Amino acid sequence: MLERHLCSHTNVGLGEMMNNKTDWDSLTFSLTPTDTMYLTETKQDDAWMPGDLRPYGNMSISPAAGVLNYGQGLFEGMKAYRTANGRVVFFRPEENARRMQRGADRLRMPPVPESIFIDAVEQVVAANLSWVPPMGKGALYVRPLLMGSGPVLGVAPAPSYTFLVYVTPVGPYFKGGVSAIDLLISEEYHRAAPGGSGGVKAIGNYAPGMMPSKKAKSAGFSEVIYLDAETHTCIEEVGAANFFCLKDGVLYTPELTGTILPGITRDSIIKLARHNGMEVVETKVTAEFAMNADEAFCCGTAAVISPIGSITKGESKAVFGNGTPGSVTTSLYNQITGIQNETIDDIFGWLHEVPTN
Ligand SMILES: *Cc1c(COP(=O)(O)O)cnc(C)c1O
Repeated sequence: MLERHLCSHTNVGLGEMMNNKTDWDSLTFSLTPTDTMYLTETKQDDAWMPGDLRPYGNMSISPAAGVLNYGQGLFEGMKAYRTANGRVVFFRPEENARRMQRGADRLRMPPVPESIFIDAVEQVVAANLSWVPPMGKGALYVRPLLMGSGPVLGVAPAPSYTFLVYVTPVGPYFKGGVSAIDLLISEEYHRAAPGGSGGVKAIGNYAPGMMPSKKAKSAGFSEVIYLDAETHTCIEEVGAANFFCLKDGVLYTPELTGTILPGITRDSIIKLARHNGMEVVETKVTAEFAMNADEAFCCGTAAVISPIGSITKGESKAVFGNGTPGSVTTSLYNQITGIQNETIDDIFGWLHEVPTN
């Protein structure tokens, strides 16, 4: 009883700390400038030191910066949520830290230690607490960036690096309920090739997807599905989200071969489904197999899970269900979002509380 009382008291306290400038019901996935960002810099061979908070705003950078000329940069994407217990939490932030370290190795940048990464994202969220939307109205999207910010003329690693974190409130991905999306398989373009950088969140991986994505959108689809660049037969990803399909009660997802971004949502779904007693197979998933599946969905931090209503490849179109999300898709969505907002037990220990005082 006492605990209950304390919880609701905390809730009120946090509620008062929310700003009253924001119309929480009209938030979308777009940039709202906030108060404070975090920044730290280091030289190529020096150790990272903790950075500091500063007002959110423009920065100056050399025209010869490695990131501007050669794309030596990485991003991460994560969310801080207000929960039913009145806490503000991250979902598996250590995984974002580790993924950025693997990306730094691939792009020849000094990896940011996990402790500095976690401290940075905690500090920025705590400093922008009034921008964390109320539970159910969205989340505070946290965007860490690591870049070669020092000047370099030849194609080579930059002499110095910047790690920065900014935040922006975002609305729930699906307003008015989860709806199924229509996807188009790209037969012309690829996202990543074997040996390339598809397995890390390198900034340079994303601009080449914009034209194919716009084309698909003007043809009435929500996003493109990319096939593997070697055989053009196996599904790799949906835009910037991972792919799953269900066939005869077994869940299938493309195996991580280096060309697919190892999503934290993907990993969480695999663990959750296995915990539920479901068989999950990480393998090559051909477009043909997927188009004969019973359910399909894609996943990532932004939307968590998006049910797929149809997949089109050339002249053929596969429709899943009758445009409504499948039951396994819906159940996984409810479980992940339930863990995130603490209406379901966090049995895997995935939540990481943001210290807010
Ligand atoms: C970020 C990203 C994902 C999803 O990863 P999460 O960790 O689940 O947010 C999937 N594919 C690509 C290409 C991405 O950049």
